[in-house]
Amino acid sequence: MKYAALGNFIGGQAVKSGNGKLDVFSPIDGSVISTVPLSKKSDLDKAVESAKKAFPSWSSLPIKERVQVFYRYKYLLEQNIDELTELVHIENGKTISESRAEVEKSIEVTEFACSIPQLTSGEVLEVSKGVECRIERYPLGVVACITPFNFPNMVPNWTIPNALCLGNTMILKPSEQVPLSANRLAELLKEAGLPDGVFNVVHGDKEIVEAICDHPGIGAVTFVGSTKVAKIVYARASSTLKRALTLGGAKNHLIVLPDANTDMAASNIAASMSGCAGQRCMAASAMVGVGAVDHIIDKLCEESKKIIPGKNLGAIISKQAKERIENYISEAEKDGAKVLVDGRNCKVDGKENGFYVGPTVLDYVKPEMKIAKEEVFGPVLSIMRSDTIEDAMKIENSSSYGNAAAVFTQSGGAANYVAEHASAGMIGVNIGVPVPREPFSFGGWNESKFGVGDITGKSSIEFFTKLKKITTKWNPESQVNWMS
Ligand code: NAD
Repeated sequence: MKYAALGNFIGGQAVKSGNGKLDVFSPIDGSVISTVPLSKKSDLDKAVESAKKAFPSWSSLPIKERVQVFYRYKYLLEQNIDELTELVHIENGKTISESRAEVEKSIEVTEFACSIPQLTSGEVLEVSKGVECRIERYPLGVVACITPFNFPNMVPNWTIPNALCLGNTMILKPSEQVPLSANRLAELLKEAGLPDGVFNVVHGDKEIVEAICDHPGIGAVTFVGSTKVAKIVYARASSTLKRALTLGGAKNHLIVLPDANTDMAASNIAASMSGCAGQRCMAASAMVGVGAVDHIIDKLCEESKKIIPGKNLGAIISKQAKERIENYISEAEKDGAKVLVDGRNCKVDGKENGFYVGPTVLDYVKPEMKIAKEEVFGPVLSIMRSDTIEDAMKIENSSSYGNAAAVFTQSGGAANYVAEHASAGMIGVNIGVPVPREPFSFGGWNESKFGVGDITGKSSIEFFTKLKKITTKWNPESQVNWMS
């Protein structure tokens, strides 16, 4: 094994879990690189205890002092970027440049967290003569964050810096498929000066997620992963009266008009559908061509053929996921879709046991086909055709998801029409992956997100704090006794 067997990280140190364990595979070559513990409720109890114990002193530090830890954390992410990049590459299978971009994004969200003191100064107003009302923000207590396999470094960092700067203590439950980055982040937080117990990692699968939802010592839960599990976690965590925000899957539509800049549209669409091997919730999964767009599709196919598995296209997370993606393609072909670029049965020289699917472009997909409706989560683009922009929007609007949508055109009017009518939380105009960068917040609509607000940016401040309203009167001569 390339890495030692993992433990949980509780109270500032690696802790063995006496329970079962799973092998961790590198999707690059299918080798076993480590093992991850399958924690039990008793492990979670220890982590909650540790986070509860750390809460009073951490939360009572002035925010400007808490933030100092994150200036140092940002520096450590920068200093260790090569090693963190390599970890993401090996455990997730994405390319080195994608892995590095992920860590760079973690640095950007940490920068945002360092600005939180400037964004959270309170509000004060003289509401009657001599009577003042002011608002203060308080942390929630122990919060838990459950994360998926596709961004082992960035998605945990969507919540770690913001939640902790705001005074909470945390338990992270990373995906059991990519557990290594989480423990390394815990070590870097400790090195940055975070007091023991403020941040804890508990590994495991469904059982530990359910225990998190049920645990009375946890005040709030965030989740990022598939819609199926996002619904379960939202319902279960809310039923024990926790604050919950759960982000689910996606089926993002790109609306392509004939007047789009051909080169820009084709290269953006190819990058959007194949980046991170299509395993990201912002990936282009469906394209709706409005009218005569064959020149753009031809160029898109040309661009797609330049994307080579094992070189500029990373691996799929598991053998099962590779099979699932290939089955979607074969079923769509059987249902009448035309395979323009075929990524099935691809092998990478020297990495014959790795899990790879090449870029795939399918034309003449119909909105009622399974591949048009479900999340494929692979480097596969389904092209549908429509005669009008209104019909294109009907297709987009019929999706149960609503993470992102984009339009490619040179017409401001058409772009505005799509931006206004798309049923999605994040919209791109001539941008295939419209991730809102800080201070803007990240979050979709419909079955791509459950709960109020977004998970990053300014919106996360609302999620991770509660407000206290204090009304003060010092002058006895004031006749104000209202509400009495
Ligand atoms: P997943 O739902 O299988 O797993 C996510 C987390 O839930 C993991 O930590 C896992 O251990 C846990 N889990 C899995 N099954 C469970 C169950 N039955 N009960 C309780 N917990 C369970 O997701 P994944 O395969 O790791 O990640 C891919 C999915 O995440 C895709 O659907 C993708 O679109 C989505 N995603 C969404 C966003 C977003 O911002 N909306 C971002 C990244 C990924």
